[in-house]
Amino acid sequence: MKRPHGVVVASKNADKVAEMESVLAALDPPIAVIPGHGWPDVEETEDSLADNALLKAHAVCAATGHAAVADDTGLEVDALSGAPGVKTARYAGPGATYDDNVDKLLEELDGVPRPDRSARFKTAIALVTPSGAELVVEGVLEGSITTGRRGDGGFGYDPVFEVDGRTLAEIPAADKNKISHRAIALRLLTENLD
Ligand code: IMP
Repeated sequence: MKRPHGVVVASKNADKVAEMESVLAALDPPIAVIPGHGWPDVEETEDSLADNALLKAHAVCAATGHAAVADDTGLEVDALSGAPGVKTARYAGPGATYDDNVDKLLEELDGVPRPDRSARFKTAIALVTPSGAELVVEGVLEGSITTGRRGDGGFGYDPVFEVDGRTLAEIPAADKNKISHRAIALRLLTENLD
């Protein structure tokens, strides 16, 4: 697909937009982020990360007239047969906060020993352009779930997701943005652009 000059980041989650902006700005050459315009909320009704990312990118591209990138992220925990998966954002129920979701995850894993707490973040990122071209890629970050929160950075499940001995909330933002599932997916996306 031809490289767009700029993209709208199709997310209303300020944490994610900041992370995606920083990764896109660090690309060589960088991809400019077109400041968010208003668009209607898009319900994630599909049952795969890739299809939800495409759904959001198409809706935001249509609403703004600009190329749009959208992501959908899921956390897969092996001891929970891959849950929360596509339900990651609303694991503790509709309207759940980050804290509610982390509490529920720690409860569900209560008593599960360290070696059995393996997990991974998966992010699907879709790019859709006004001409109708589309591209979807997936980035994966392997890690494990801690038994309690550690660190003040990041967002979501970062305080309980450990990679190489540190939780993502203990890693400075600039470093997380180099290794994260979203950064991996975004790099892969740009590698597939002419
Ligand atoms: P979404 O459906 O793509 O918005 O993401 C699902 C949920 O995954 C979010 O509500 C966050 O709680 C969580 N999440 C997404 N990305 C990250 C991350 O980089 N670190 C921790 N949690 C994340």
